[in-house]
Amino acid sequence: MTFGMLRAACALLCAWSVAAAATEFRLEVEDVGHGIFALVGPLGDRSYENHGLNATYAVIDTPEGAILIDSGASRMGAELLAAETQRLTGKPVRWVINTGAQDHRWLGNAWFIAQGAEVIAHKRTVNTQKKEVGHQLERLAPALKERLDGTEPAHATRVIVADSETLQLGGRTLEMHYLSDAHFAGDVMLWMPEARTLFAGDHVYMDRILSIRPFSSAEGWLEAFGKLAAFDAVVIVPGHGSVTDTAGAQRDTGDYLAFVVEGVRKHAEDMAGAEEALAELGDAPQFERLQNYADLHRANVHQAYLQIEAGL
Ligand SMILES: [Zn+2]
Repeated sequence: MTFGMLRAACALLCAWSVAAAATEFRLEVEDVGHGIFALVGPLGDRSYENHGLNATYAVIDTPEGAILIDSGASRMGAELLAAETQRLTGKPVRWVINTGAQDHRWLGNAWFIAQGAEVIAHKRTVNTQKKEVGHQLERLAPALKERLDGTEPAHATRVIVADSETLQLGGRTLEMHYLSDAHFAGDVMLWMPEARTLFAGDHVYMDRILSIRPFSSAEGWLEAFGKLAAFDAVVIVPGHGSVTDTAGAQRDTGDYLAFVVEGVRKHAEDMAGAEEALAELGDAPQFERLQNYADLHRANVHQAYLQIEAGL
């Protein structure tokens, strides 16, 4: 065997092992009808096993190619999403739309751009992606290890500037709406009027408790949720968890945000201190059914308090 042959064999073997590793993990598929599929990732944290795909994605079939909503947290994650899209629609991804700036919404962009896809995102989203990318790659590296290899941050090839914009591909219409800064600054949602279907991105968490972080805007998120609920969607593909409707999103996200933000606000206005807010709101048995409650609820109350007091 010549050196060249050896190298070719090795390349084949390496490509095979990457493909084999990538196929171990599958997102759960929910067929929403109207050529729309939700790809539901696990509710827990990013891990080597899940490729950082711990979020919900969506695929929309159109006669001119598939639309993928959010591109995954890595090059390998992007390839998995592309393979699933191909399997479901028989088509390659023509458009990728980023609904937010969190790692699992956009770090697969470069791979799709290399395949010739157009990547669409709002200017506000892109600005936050640029700000957060350093931390995101640092946090992903220990979880994804070599599965993060080849991941190059890349931003949209088509940037939306208006707060609302209509996008059309293959006779399908999607409206992009920026509502308010929420989980991240620059989160957007997508609305498909003909199917009364809403792609909520990180505005809506189902089955698991949402996470109010220092970079989030607790009050903005509650405001954005109110605007989103007013669309009165029949189907909501959330940013995390399984497909729902407006009432379901209200239960798992809207009611929880209102409980935290409105509850904390009166303590903040009295300058009562985060301890006092936690004493009253730190136990919320009505939300214990949501996964990650024990890890995140008290931190959410604390973070919301700090933000609201600082904003007074
Ligand atoms: Zn998320």
